[in-house]
Amino acid sequence: MNKRIVFSAAIGIIAIGVLWSKAEALTHSKPETAPIVASPSTKPTPKPSPEPSVAPSGGPTEPTKQPIEEPSVKPTDKPTGKPTPTGNINPPVKQPVKPADITALLAANLPELNFKKDSDGKIIVTNTSSNYILVNKKRMLSSTYVPKDLTVPNVPFSFSGSSPKKQMRREAALALESLFKAAKKDKIDLKAVSGYRSYATQKSIFQSNSDKKGEEVANRTSARPGQSEHQTGLAMDVSSASAGYDLVEKFGETTEGKWLAKHAAEHGFIIRFLKGKESITGYSYEPWHIRYIGKEVAKDITNKKVTLEQYFDTISATVNK
Ligand SMILES: [Zn+2]
Repeated sequence: MNKRIVFSAAIGIIAIGVLWSKAEALTHSKPETAPIVASPSTKPTPKPSPEPSVAPSGGPTEPTKQPIEEPSVKPTDKPTGKPTPTGNINPPVKQPVKPADITALLAANLPELNFKKDSDGKIIVTNTSSNYILVNKKRMLSSTYVPKDLTVPNVPFSFSGSSPKKQMRREAALALESLFKAAKKDKIDLKAVSGYRSYATQKSIFQSNSDKKGEEVANRTSARPGQSEHQTGLAMDVSSASAGYDLVEKFGETTEGKWLAKHAAEHGFIIRFLKGKESITGYSYEPWHIRYIGKEVAKDITNKKVTLEQYFDTISATVNK
């Protein structure tokens, strides 16, 4: 009897001991398994988050393209009523841009970085969506290029009826409205004469000028197809009653022409073909031809009294120092 009691008691004690140790093992294993579950869940989350955060803040050259397109969607629903003219299209320019941002944008849009050669070896401009595009006799737009956001600015024109040449790219059109509003306030009567021109239209204009005046004169006074700033949708020819709404040099001597030269930059435009700069631009002085480029750069170019070509040369020299 005693032996049995002792035996069963011993077994009981052993059993309790085993159960106890199992229970302990379980409580200990819980914390161990818990982290295992937790760690996979924490791993995935950190991975994705660093990637996006790097992309937006990234270097100055590559990302410029991304930011330009991303915000372009956001602004459109908000700012329609807002007066900030720089922006529905190229958001980096839209929000008040810091000087450092402009330098980065200009650096990314240097002419030497934004072209390809076609089968004939002609230089075709590739940064077509940028306000900083440089088109001239050496740098062409492709024959198929048409700006995507052409719109008719709400300004007085020198002619009535609808016409493709009333159009400009949206941001430029808003800026033109602001320019004309300011002119009206100063009792300056300006009228828009000619904006967007397709490759085909430019082709027939050049041909007609060439037929009338000879190719040499046509070359100095009109652009060959693909070489006109009017195809960018960023240019508008402007005149006044005092100049008979003609596109003539004497417009520059009128009150309106002088007002335009003085105030265009405040609204983001430059007088593109300056007097005395024919050898650089390849074109005669055109006081009527204004080109949109954004306020900050327009003011800078106007203050420096340089052509767009010279301006980019300076930026290029600074960047490549
Ligand atoms: Zn023009």
